Amino acid sequence: MGVNLLPTDSKVCSFDCIYCECGWTPRKRSQKAVLPSRELVKQKMEEKLTDMIWNNEYPDVITFAGNGEPTLHPDFEGIIDDTIELRNQHTPNARIAVLSNATMLHKPGVVRALLKVEDNIQKLDSAFEETIRRIDCPTSNFSLQKVVENLKSFNGKVIIQTLFLKGNHKNEVIDNTTESELTEWIKLITEIKPSQVMIYTIERDTPAAGLEKVKLDELENIAERVRAIGFEVQVSG
Ligand code: SF4
Repeated sequence: MGVNLLPTDSKVCSFDCIYCECGWTPRKRSQKAVLPSRELVKQKMEEKLTDMIWNNEYPDVITFAGNGEPTLHPDFEGIIDDTIELRNQHTPNARIAVLSNATMLHKPGVVRALLKVEDNIQKLDSAFEETIRRIDCPTSNFSLQKVVENLKSFNGKVIIQTLFLKGNHKNEVIDNTTESELTEWIKLITEIKPSQVMIYTIERDTPAAGLEKVKLDELENIAERVRAIGFEVQVSG
């Protein structure tokens, strides 16, 4: 079951990834984006869960993703608390997963919430800040060093998710699969010590033209290198 804490008609994100399935992040808005209240999210979630269970459809996972970055919601921690309460009440076997871009980990409430869910999935597309700026295009202050420190402070209760891609964008080469990229990325994985690494590539149309998927056998080779140093890896390509 997917949960979107962001507007349905407009993306809200602290990144503007060139591969984002939600399209480009609006840089200027005529009106401030309106996010659903904690109360509304709880009400809609309870209605949906009740409906699913009535139809004998028990969700395996309740996944926070949606139209942008879920941890930008100002009541993110409270919403996670409500979700845990509803899950325990209605569908205790379901996992709770959050897909995040790791830019809000300076907020203690976001970290507390992420430590309460089963699958705390954080994006790390490169070990080079310059590459992240090319691929993920942060929309405000960004420091890879701080992100990595925050990821390490989860003490392993984190899943690192990396999208590999190649191509060209704005006359710059895009490739986070080069040997230097992989060597440094694997070093960061070793430092962060995640419980799992998820690697994948482009699956649908991207807002930027000129991007290419990475072949499945290349993803498998990357996965083998990470497994060889003792980490669990999930590949989708
Ligand atoms: S972090 Fe996620 S939602 Fe935000 S731009 Fe990147 S892919 Fe899209």
